Amino acid sequence: MQNMLQELGKTSIKVSDISSQYWCEKQMELRYRFGEKITKEIKKGKAIHEALEDEVNVPVMLEPRNYSDFMYKSLYTSWLSLSSLMEKKRGREIQIYGSINGYKLVGRIDQLQMEDGKVVLLDDKTTANPKKPSDSQLNSNRVQLMVYRKMLDDICSGSYAESNFVMSYGIDRLVMSNEFLMQLRAIGVPEELHSFSAMTDAFFLKYRSIGSLSNTVKIRYIDQSTRDEIDTYRFEYSDEAAQEIITHILKYWNKERAANPVPESEKWKCNRCAFFGNECKVWWPQKTVL
Ligand code: SF4
Repeated sequence: MQNMLQELGKTSIKVSDISSQYWCEKQMELRYRFGEKITKEIKKGKAIHEALEDEVNVPVMLEPRNYSDFMYKSLYTSWLSLSSLMEKKRGREIQIYGSINGYKLVGRIDQLQMEDGKVVLLDDKTTANPKKPSDSQLNSNRVQLMVYRKMLDDICSGSYAESNFVMSYGIDRLVMSNEFLMQLRAIGVPEELHSFSAMTDAFFLKYRSIGSLSNTVKIRYIDQSTRDEIDTYRFEYSDEAAQEIITHILKYWNKERAANPVPESEKWKCNRCAFFGNECKVWWPQKTVL
């Protein structure tokens, strides 16, 4: 029998999927089945993330031609961001890989920063509504950070290492295009890093060198219109909290249960959902009393 990942035609679980499972699991599944609508808010949020990245990272002029090029670029730019963390105390847009119970896990960390000698994980959330986030919003964002922090722990401790990554992604079979290799030379990527094995080793080695991880994780909410910070929330990471999240979400991916819709107390979320009344009618009959 297929697991949910196979049924949805996916090869890995994104960390943002896990966060979405805590907002509305059914909505997350419907997005994969019917496609996501790119709203104005999503475009604005992306622009803010790009502007924040430009503040810290030097733009890398590489244009991937195929999947292998794309994968290399991701490793290389993340390696540069990790170097920036060590040199300038801040690195942004860092790719992270991991595994839970045989499922590939992938994500992109917004920011790592040094505070009092420890590495702190920070996630930026942009919002069109400058009010404080709801408890439910905060919880689904907190879940994302807990999973990232666990993945960081796994990489920094060596429990998820080069060998796991190479095997999961078939890295030793990937071949970069000649055009892309020429681009690497043109922008001055050191010759000794022009292979996947060297880049993979450099990427994991850099992660293992970032130093001690703080248990404090932060979520920063940013107003989409003014780009002002609304507030920053702090949470404490614990292995137990991460394990609880993993146990909960795996029941869905293992097909031990169907996707959960929102509970009745949260049916206000349906009014903002593109699937309400169409692909999802869980709370539709009650719409008039919402
Ligand atoms: S309509 Fe409501 S329950 Fe259904 S997917 Fe959307 S948010 Fe979830």
